Amino acid sequence: MLVNSKEMLFKARKEGYGVAQPNVWDLHSLRAVIQGCEEKRSPVIVALAEVHFDYIDPYEIMNMARFYMEKADIPIAMHLDHGNTFEACVNAIRAGFTSVMLDASMLSFEENVKRTTEVVKIAHKCGVTVEAELGHVGQGEDYEKIDKDLKDLFTNPEQAQEFVDLTGVDSLAVAIGTAHGEYKGTPKIDLTRLKEIRNMVNVPLVLHGGSGTGDNTLKKCIDMGISKINICTDLMKAGAAAVNSVLNEKNYIDLGMAGEEGIKKCLQRYIDVFGCVGKA
Ligand SMILES: [Zn+2]
Repeated sequence: MLVNSKEMLFKARKEGYGVAQPNVWDLHSLRAVIQGCEEKRSPVIVALAEVHFDYIDPYEIMNMARFYMEKADIPIAMHLDHGNTFEACVNAIRAGFTSVMLDASMLSFEENVKRTTEVVKIAHKCGVTVEAELGHVGQGEDYEKIDKDLKDLFTNPEQAQEFVDLTGVDSLAVAIGTAHGEYKGTPKIDLTRLKEIRNMVNVPLVLHGGSGTGDNTLKKCIDMGISKINICTDLMKAGAAAVNSVLNEKNYIDLGMAGEEGIKKCLQRYIDVFGCVGKA
């Protein structure tokens, strides 16, 4: 069933597990994700990022998603990942998404507050939950600069609750050392900072850049207060590897179906790590 992410994430926060936010980019990744979570009886936040609108349009994916969600007996939120503008968020809400992220994390605190508040106002009128990001989660390819540049972009614990109070946001993505894409170097996560943020902030916290962070670290992050973990790169890698292995045996394949199984298994493994099995 289609729901927003509010109850799902507060339950996760209360019971101390993590909800997966797998990214999808086509019909097959969508099918893999919904089937994978149904088999695990796990709630899920299915995400389409604005950078993938060229692959698939929010209306297009929402129509497909409705078909599968009618049959799936688990809570599913449809989420816009990294919406850059008010317009992108409104477009996703109009398409039927139940959750949106407005990412103004590269702007000043004041501008981030202003833009997030605008989205919260309209989203809450529509029963849609909003995620924002304070501090900035960078790219894995820049990771060797972590001790210099990336650390300056970490979330400031003192500012975090102020941000939540000013904006009315439902969940908050934090920058504590994870990165998008593939890490160039070893991930170093600031768990002390995470704990501080968790103690100060009264909404569920979100971790971007889950792929490649490592199971033990992700488990620690959940223990220290993360309620939602975003996974994209590892799902794409698993899909590609599954396609490759079929190609090694045959020179004709059903591309999408070959990838689906790989994506599903990869996500299901993460759901085990996050402790979200049976929480639907
Ligand atoms: Zn992200």
